[in-house]
Amino acid sequence: DSTQDKDNARPMTFIPGIPLWAQILAGLVLGAIAGALLGDNASLLKPLGDIFISAIKMLIVPLVFSTLVVGITGMGDPQKMGRIGLRTIALYLFTTAFAIAIGLLASTIFQPGVGVDLPFESSVDAKEAPSMVDILVGLVPQNPIDALAEGNILQIIVFAIGLAISLTLIGERGAPLTRIFESFAEAMYKLTEIVMAFAPFGVFGLIANVAGQYGLDVLIPLAKVIGVAYLACVVHVLVVYTGLIALLGRLNPVRYFRGSIDALVVAYSSASSSGTLPVSLRCAQDNFGVSRGVAGFVLPVGATINMDGTALYQGVVALFVAQFVGIDLSWADYGMIILTGTLASIGTAGVPGAGLVMLSIVLTQVGLPLEAVGVVAGIDRILDMARTSVNVAGDLMVTILVAKSEGELDENIYNQRIER
Ligand code: ASP
Repeated sequence: DSTQDKDNARPMTFIPGIPLWAQILAGLVLGAIAGALLGDNASLLKPLGDIFISAIKMLIVPLVFSTLVVGITGMGDPQKMGRIGLRTIALYLFTTAFAIAIGLLASTIFQPGVGVDLPFESSVDAKEAPSMVDILVGLVPQNPIDALAEGNILQIIVFAIGLAISLTLIGERGAPLTRIFESFAEAMYKLTEIVMAFAPFGVFGLIANVAGQYGLDVLIPLAKVIGVAYLACVVHVLVVYTGLIALLGRLNPVRYFRGSIDALVVAYSSASSSGTLPVSLRCAQDNFGVSRGVAGFVLPVGATINMDGTALYQGVVALFVAQFVGIDLSWADYGMIILTGTLASIGTAGVPGAGLVMLSIVLTQVGLPLEAVGVVAGIDRILDMARTSVNVAGDLMVTILVAKSEGELDENIYNQRIER
């Protein structure tokens, strides 16, 4: 009905008259200015950001679970799920390997590690890349309530798919529970909208805190590697993502950026792609017209395993370290970095700083000193913000492509001109 449509077209906001995405962007810019002016005192604004982050994290488990159950029961064709799964994984892996290659290329061209003179810091423990077998075995939850309580997204997905398929198979007898999930999912969307109304303030607090913490004195010695990493991120998104959206999806890439803004800014300020999941789910459905089934599957999987920004960063930093300590890498080393970097990025959790820990896997594989991790650790948050945005941008891009290929994308919504 028309009240419902009106309600859907204009998300809830505290500052009427300005679209939410513009408010969120303003929060980012004003936060950076406030942080720069306040310096250390900007940490007083941090609680504002912390409350917002907790509030969106609160949504993740119930939102993912209900969206996926409702989405798959609505799709009604379990075989379709299999196809969607394969396409999703293939696109995720392909774009990740590409991302590292771009990172390696950027560091090869711009040589950010040459001439850097910084002391090695504390020693670091090596991690191991997760094996494919471990990943597969870990997918099935022994206890779904545990999986929900721990927020183990992949296990939650497996249980939700099983439940949704069973609900479909039992037909009428499944209808009451399906309706409960539908109603629950609706409530979760509303709650997401309410939480997102706070996003401009949350983003403001988060960015102010980061901007206040990092003075130019820590940033300048590493300005080159920061610049190269940011540049590679931008190139990856502009070339690979918009290219795939336009060529493979035959869709307008400008709409892709415009509809992703909320998620990208929240990813940038929170440095957590898992935490951004409720926002990306909303962008996918409301701004792009992706169906619940596809959004509810592809995005949570992506937030857990698809980390293009993290992979790209591994490429940039591995070469940075090699240049910094003066070790020449062979072509085989480059291949090794792409392989282990892809695996390491899959094993990276979508939480702040996780990529830094996983860097040790890549460095160990090609025989680079682990202590070098300490050199970038001081500025890691700045790199983390950029790579997390790329991680989320990649998830959304693949979600749109998969939806399009399965006829699960409403192009009227994708091309809509509504100011959201
Ligand atoms: N913070 C990143 C994310 O949440 C992971 C990383 O540290 O690379 O996507």
